[in-house]
Amino acid sequence: VIEKGQPEHSVVTTCAYCGVGCSFKAEMQGSDVVRMVPFKDGKANEGHSCVKGRFAFGYATHKDRMTRPMIRAKISDPWREVSWEEAIGHAASEIKRIQAKYGTESVGAITSSRCTNEEVFVVQKLVRAAFKNNNVDTCARVCHSPTGYGLKTTFGTSAGTQDFKSVEEADVILVMGANPTDGHPVFASRMKKRLRAGAKLIVIDPRRIDLVKSPHIEAQVHLPLKPGTNVAMVNAIAHVIVTEGLVDESFVRERCDMVDFLAWAQFIADPSNAPEAAEAITGVPAADIRAAARLYATGGNGAIYYGLGVTEHSQGSTTVMGLANLAMATGNIGREGVGVNPLRGQNNVQGSCDMGSFPHEFSGYRHVSDDATREMFEHMWGVALSPEQGLRIPNMFDEAIGGGFKALYVQGEDIAQSDPNTQHVQAALGAMECIIVQDLFLNETAKFAHVFLPGSSFLEKDGTFTNAERRISRVRKVMPELSGKSEWQVTIDLAKALGYDMAYAHPSEIMDEIARLTPTFAGVSYAKLDELGSVQWPCNDKAPEGTPTMHIGGFVRGKGQFVVTEYVPTDEKVTPRFPLILTTGRILSQYNVGAQTRRTENSAWHPEDVLEIHPHDAEQRGVRDGDLVAIQSRAGETVLKARVSERMQPGVVYTTFHHPFSGANVITTDYSDWATNCPEYKVTAVEIRRTNRH
Ligand code: SF4
Repeated sequence: VIEKGQPEHSVVTTCAYCGVGCSFKAEMQGSDVVRMVPFKDGKANEGHSCVKGRFAFGYATHKDRMTRPMIRAKISDPWREVSWEEAIGHAASEIKRIQAKYGTESVGAITSSRCTNEEVFVVQKLVRAAFKNNNVDTCARVCHSPTGYGLKTTFGTSAGTQDFKSVEEADVILVMGANPTDGHPVFASRMKKRLRAGAKLIVIDPRRIDLVKSPHIEAQVHLPLKPGTNVAMVNAIAHVIVTEGLVDESFVRERCDMVDFLAWAQFIADPSNAPEAAEAITGVPAADIRAAARLYATGGNGAIYYGLGVTEHSQGSTTVMGLANLAMATGNIGREGVGVNPLRGQNNVQGSCDMGSFPHEFSGYRHVSDDATREMFEHMWGVALSPEQGLRIPNMFDEAIGGGFKALYVQGEDIAQSDPNTQHVQAALGAMECIIVQDLFLNETAKFAHVFLPGSSFLEKDGTFTNAERRISRVRKVMPELSGKSEWQVTIDLAKALGYDMAYAHPSEIMDEIARLTPTFAGVSYAKLDELGSVQWPCNDKAPEGTPTMHIGGFVRGKGQFVVTEYVPTDEKVTPRFPLILTTGRILSQYNVGAQTRRTENSAWHPEDVLEIHPHDAEQRGVRDGDLVAIQSRAGETVLKARVSERMQPGVVYTTFHHPFSGANVITTDYSDWATNCPEYKVTAVEIRRTNRH
């Protein structure tokens, strides 16, 4: 930490890292941030923070920050610094040229969950109103899109059901495919406090994560399943609940669709879903699965928390719906202490989805083909809108390689590093004629770009983020934009250059428009956020101060919908050639592709990604702790340092993806969730061998 002296003033704002959304006071000396102090009145963090939000803000003024717009004709040309007018004019003329030559559908955009709601909203509006198509997608595609699909299908709303505080009322906490200690540290502390006070814990995770056994906390049951077998595991838990008479029948009768329930119960009672059958699939003893099911169903308030270990699979949406089935079957929904709660990765992944940056949905998750909704947007925006669903990110890549998709505007996301199967992504980027990157740094994607528009860090922004508990919090500008222009202004300037006017004087006016167009945000305004500190959507006439717990007394969709969740093994098979399963995740001090944290002192704590491997697998291959190993998959090969660890189960290896040179996504595959195309990052068949080369 660089202590620069006593602060002269402070500004309350919101952390730009994970989906906990902690509030901080940025203490300032002139326009320099002296320190970030966790804000005790912040409802998401109540004065707590982690090592990222508290210390890792130096990237905002790092020497690598790009502050001048740049253009180049070909990616082999050097960049040329230009004025904002020239950069935006060039981008607009390229989009016009490409649409004239290849058609309206040949261009699109990707929004960022790092950006504010307001910035995301104007990008999706740019695509729909100025590009005149629906080719807009969000980086949530590659993380929590199955959450949106699964929870909307079963409950009616694409969001978690509880506020964070709710965990304090939980009696049994089921954590699946999440490592809150590293991924969501401040919420993890809240959860651990409840566990130390006596709540019971079930952990479903291939690794023996910290929660399984840490000081004063020990999981009652740890189910270390093989990656890729989540649905078999959730079905086996449900089987015990159904066949042992543990269903909350009155809840199901009153609150759920009985036809769906009966079909599901019949399916789930089949012996093929029994724990004994699941043992052969998951590798977890049937007795442990039975113990977990009985504990969750009978232990009082049962609360489910899950992460990307649930969603980033070929059956990610199925598992989300399976967890929703468990909650409905046991009546664990619609009050404090229960629910189904995604632990969202990025600061504004909930918000980027809420804001309509999916190719099939306007803000508030309303389909573009719905005439009444589309006509309302057309009326408000004064432009005809397409009723056709646009392209998802993987479709954009496929179409680019096929020659039909030619220009992409990428807002604050390094798709060349973060998306799976790097070779495929690079081929797609290389096939496009105009890539516009808006970012803080010249990232890996910018190597393929023709226009670079410098972005702003959270310290330079006014706007809002929406965290994992649907809490909308203000982001307040503490220093001027280094680029001289707000990101939302850049987007509306581009729209104007394309012939579509968006007139806003301040992000608060964008939020006013969001509120007018989005029923769940109808009561949200900057004035209300300043008054209350934050609000959780839905916030409208029915709930003017927001909604901490959803689905009280009834589901948003009416009756809760049970869904038959058949287990379908992934196509990514282990074979004698690729006998190990690689799964990926994050660590506490770093964040996603590391664009920010690698440019802070946090980098010293995790200077490189390593491969965790069980001692048995290491010994079989003559690998010792610290050796370099080549990791080969069907997609490619990369080299990492080995860390021999009892946290792994035999047959499973693990790495993080915080450093571009580690190339974890060089080896991940194209398989994706059947419903949403969320990539199957968590299952890659690999083999490893010792090597001497980096
Ligand atoms: Fe930021 Fe998340 Fe850490 Fe809170 S827990 S300080 S939101 S990274």
